[in-house]
Amino acid sequence: MTQLKDDILAGRRRALAKAITLVESSRADHQDNAQQLLASLLPHTGKSIRLGFTGTPGVGKSTFIEAFGLQLTAQGHRVAVLAVDPSSTRTGGSILGDKTRMELLSKDPNAFIRPTPSGGTLGGVARRTREAMLLCEAAGYDVVLIETVGVGQSEIAVADMVDMFLLMLSPGGGDDLQGIKRGIMELADLVIINKADGDFKKAAMRAAGDYTSALHLMRPKFPCWTADVVLTSALNNEGLGMVWQKIQEFETAMKDSGQLEKMRAEQAKAWMWSEIHDQLIDVFKSRHPDKVTDMEQQVLAGKTPPTAAAHLLLKDFLG
Ligand code: GDP
Repeated sequence: MTQLKDDILAGRRRALAKAITLVESSRADHQDNAQQLLASLLPHTGKSIRLGFTGTPGVGKSTFIEAFGLQLTAQGHRVAVLAVDPSSTRTGGSILGDKTRMELLSKDPNAFIRPTPSGGTLGGVARRTREAMLLCEAAGYDVVLIETVGVGQSEIAVADMVDMFLLMLSPGGGDDLQGIKRGIMELADLVIINKADGDFKKAAMRAAGDYTSALHLMRPKFPCWTADVVLTSALNNEGLGMVWQKIQEFETAMKDSGQLEKMRAEQAKAWMWSEIHDQLIDVFKSRHPDKVTDMEQQVLAGKTPPTAAAHLLLKDFLG
C-alpha cells in the first residue's frame, strides 16, 4: 500500500489505474485497503478544477473532450477524464464503452481516461467516481473532467461532486431542450453549443440567443457567477479556448468569494450522509434477508401496508 501510495503521488498512471480498480472492488479486504489508501492520500487532494460535463449522445462530447484535452495538455496541464455510464447500471450495456473514444487523448502521457465499470447502483457509481476523482488529484491531475450522458439521473449525482457543471447542446435550439430535462439546464454553469460550423452555424447563433435568455430567467446557482453560453466547433477546434477562459473565470470568482471552499465542504458533508444511508441500507438488508423478502411479498400482495411493513422491519432491526 505504501508503494502504491508513493507511485500515485509520483503520478504513475498504472498505479492510479490499479488504485481505481481497488476502489471499485466490492471485496471487503479490497475496500479496507482502498479506504486506507484514500485516507493517506487525502492531504494531497483538492487541487484540481473539478468539471462535470454532460450532453445527449451524438452532441459531440468525445470529439470535444479529445480536442479540449489535447489543447490543455499542450499547455502543460494534466487532464483526467472519468466517464460515468448510467446505461450500464440498468441494462448491462454501455453507451460510452462500445466505440473507440478519444484515441489521441488516451495516448497522451499527460492524460488519463477511465470509464466506470458497468453494474452497480447509481449510489455505488457515484461513490466510486468521487473516490476515483480524489485519486486522480493525488496523482497530480489538475483538470478532472467527469463525463455523463445527459439522459439520466447521474447528472445530478455528478453535479454534487464537481465545482463546475458544463452542459453541451447541439444547435437545434428551441424550448424542448433536446431531450435534456429543464432540471439539468438549471445545473449548468456553462452551456456549450457545439457544431457551430458550416450549415449549422446560423442555427447555433440563434440557439445561443435562446439559451442565454433562458438562463437569465433562472435563479442563479451562485451569487458570484452568471451561467453563460459559448459556441464551439469541436471538429474544427474552435471556441475551445473560450471554454477554458470561462472555466478559469468561474474558478477565480468562486475562489475569491469563498464559495468554492464552502461548496466543497457542503459536498463532503452530503457525501458522508449518503454513505451512511447506503451502508445502513446494506446492513439492514443483510441482517434478516428472509424477513425482508417476506415483508416485501406481503406488501406486494397488498396484505400489509408499506408504512406498517417498514415500521415492523425497523422495530425488528433496532431490536
Ligand atoms: P458524443 O456521443 O456526444 O460523444 O458525440 P461524438 O463526439 O461521438 O460526435 C458525434 C458526431 O458528431 C460525430 O460524427 C462527430 O464527428 C460529429 N461532431 C462532433 N463535434 C462536431 C462539430 O463541432 N461539428 C460538426 N459538424 N460535427 C461534429
